[in-house]
Amino acid sequence: MTRSRWILLALVLTAGLGSMFAAPAQSPSARPPGTNYKAPAFTFNQIAQGIYHAVGTGNLVVMSNAAVIETDRDVLVVDSHVSPGGAWALGEELKAVTPKPIRFVVNSHYHFDHSHGNQIYGPDVEIIGHQFAREMILAGKSQDSRAREFYAVRAPAAQIESLMKRIAATADAAEKARLEEQLAIQQNFVEGVNAVKPTPPTMTLTDRLTLYHGGREIHIMFLGRGHTAGDVVVYLPKERVIATGDLLVEGTSYSGDAYIPEWIDTLEKLKALDFDTVLPGHGSAFKGKAKIDHFEAYLRLLWSERLQSRGRPHENRDMERQRHSRAERTAARFSRARTA
Ligand SMILES: [Zn+2]
Repeated sequence: MTRSRWILLALVLTAGLGSMFAAPAQSPSARPPGTNYKAPAFTFNQIAQGIYHAVGTGNLVVMSNAAVIETDRDVLVVDSHVSPGGAWALGEELKAVTPKPIRFVVNSHYHFDHSHGNQIYGPDVEIIGHQFAREMILAGKSQDSRAREFYAVRAPAAQIESLMKRIAATADAAEKARLEEQLAIQQNFVEGVNAVKPTPPTMTLTDRLTLYHGGREIHIMFLGRGHTAGDVVVYLPKERVIATGDLLVEGTSYSGDAYIPEWIDTLEKLKALDFDTVLPGHGSAFKGKAKIDHFEAYLRLLWSERLQSRGRPHENRDMERQRHSRAERTAARFSRARTA
């Protein structure tokens, strides 16, 4: 073999090894901080053929559900949870459900607990969301939020402090082990939250975007302002399934930056769609539309309470503060009703 042939062979071998060790095209890839957890992080509840509602087990604090839609070629996931660790865990555990790669992620809205895993997705994954969601994330609003400060910073810090005290105080070995497990979950949560780099959608819509893709018809729709100014739902008309983010959840939804009267109108539009199963951003999947009527009644009550507390349309500073603390109390009630 001539010298040039040896060089050529060496190059071919190196290229071969290179591709053997290169990161797979499939995202998510590198393991981020905040992934020190005891699997599984998710339960994949099958809703229809290739459609799953991924609900957190509590082993990893993910704070929101994902909807998983498998197509002939790839996977679309709705929402990316509260941290890169949450999104990474979903991708890892999804491999046991399907070998297909995640190619689309939809952010139902910009809130921290639905979009703060976006950063793990590489350039081969389109992150789809409302233009408003992109603008809010770019403006730092998913990070700089009272709700995030409460649920992702103050609450875990307080839990860690309390768990450490209880661990120090207990003499019971089983109890101590149980508390230490909870402590590790909270410490891992903090690590995950600290690793967040808010990342906006790469593909936006203001009205609707329909994917006729891989044997599915996937409608991503903005029905009007509600939970935020830019919530989208993911609707599968053939399968009669809809993923609603926080526009409609199992219990009551956070309303800290909501548009309450418009939310009711938006829910009416949601009700006009033809579906059987709702995959909400929090809580369990449910059937039918009765919950929409109940939630509309709750929103009407909430709005009339707010109007009464204001007294008149133009709020002064005290009223504004009062409104915020009411929203926080509502959020706290909502949080207690939430599962992980
Ligand atoms: Zn939300």
